[in-house]
Amino acid sequence: MAKSDDRCKQEPGAFTPVIDRARCEGKADCVVICPYDVFELGTVPAADRAALPFMAKVKGTLHGWKQAFAVNADACRACGLCVEACPEKAIKLARR
Ligand code: SF4
Repeated sequence: MAKSDDRCKQEPGAFTPVIDRARCEGKADCVVICPYDVFELGTVPAADRAALPFMAKVKGTLHGWKQAFAVNADACRACGLCVEACPEKAIKLARR
């Protein structure tokens, strides 16, 4: 899918991407496709790992706990490209 911000109709900050920590595998499709550089890959903090389901802990360990983080969420324009691009269906948009 081409990188495009044609569909970004919302004012920045009206919506925010929410990443499901039990699903994200750090494949970085969202990092690549977001026109506003909302995402970066990072490491899930140890304190956040304990509450995850067993299979999410297994996946997290296998992937070195690398996942996407919405470090620039205030710039989100709610185009939905990241939601469509995520192969794990780990991203939803939430109104703030
Ligand atoms: S919906 Fe996703 S791809 Fe679009 S601006 Fe927001 S974070 Fe970036």
